[in-house]
Amino acid sequence: MTSHPLLEAITRGAPLVRRRAMAKAITLLESTRPDHRAQADALLTELLPHTGRALRLGISGVPGVGKSTFIEALGIYLIGQGLKVAVLAIDPSSSVSGGSILGDKTRMERLSMQENAYIRPSPSGGTLGGVAEKTRESLLVCEAAGYDVVIVETVGVGQSETAVHGMTDMFCVLQLPNAGDDLQAIKKGVMELADLVVINKADIDAAAATRAQAQITSSLRLLGFHGNPEHDPHNAAQWRPRVIQTSALQHQGMEDFWAVVCEFRQMQTANGRLAARREKQALAWMWERIDFGLKQAFRAHPQVRALLPQMQADVAAGRIAASTAARNLLAAQSG
Ligand code: GDP
Repeated sequence: MTSHPLLEAITRGAPLVRRRAMAKAITLLESTRPDHRAQADALLTELLPHTGRALRLGISGVPGVGKSTFIEALGIYLIGQGLKVAVLAIDPSSSVSGGSILGDKTRMERLSMQENAYIRPSPSGGTLGGVAEKTRESLLVCEAAGYDVVIVETVGVGQSETAVHGMTDMFCVLQLPNAGDDLQAIKKGVMELADLVVINKADIDAAAATRAQAQITSSLRLLGFHGNPEHDPHNAAQWRPRVIQTSALQHQGMEDFWAVVCEFRQMQTANGRLAARREKQALAWMWERIDFGLKQAFRAHPQVRALLPQMQADVAAGRIAASTAARNLLAAQSG
């Protein structure tokens, strides 16, 4: 069997050739044409043995907290350490409203000029699941191309955080210094996912940042008991989420941040959690896509389409129980 023409260029090409091949591969992955999809699947299968070595880092936080500023500062720091950095994004708003929260081209201007950085905006079009799928696949392309760190940024709204958490090794949440004053303002569900919380913009109010750090540290400890079983505070071999301060604007705190990330990675590799997390993610992903595919096929089935308007009207009017309607429709599909 001959290998895909992009494989060689992505894994072994000279820098420029490699970047161009990555862009082509990602465009192929993002295409909705069935023949492109088949090609993309063949390419992914061939790329897979070259993946898995990068650190997958999720960065989340509400719009305005400083994510792009932070990623740019971190990226420049990491490149200074001799690492290659790729940045991907999940911004479902770009498909819903046509506008996008992350989308403008001026973001991370300095980082984008670096030879050892690769920045790709969020795929657009489709559901969050679809956008996330394409980002997940792009991540594999970046890994195969030899990027050491792949950062996946989320807009920090809706379910995009869960999607990013589901494809990264370490999930970091950025917070504003005043967030600690009002713990209600902290999105608890997201905090439960956090392996590391970063109080950014510490330069604005050092006292508030220190207060926030203390408050979030103690609330994370509580969450550890009841929330994320990966963060059990009684198990010394398990990671306890950290809270640090940074000023992305002044490029301060990047070294501290990276030190925590390295410590996390070392621990999770030693205790087997990293491999387990990736395995769980891959399987969850497979089932998520199966569910999606089944639902699509179900809705497209001619018998189902014929019966659906009547069933919906009957359920809405209370003439038939919802569960009976569901059974009728499922029977229509298999009949
Ligand atoms: P995002 O929406 O989370 O990506 O946030 P941006 O990175 O676009 O930053 C939003 C605003 O906050 C911009 O005006 C940044 O210059 C500013 N900003 C980001 N980080 C810091 C910081 O550490 N200190 C201060 N003072 N401003 C910051």
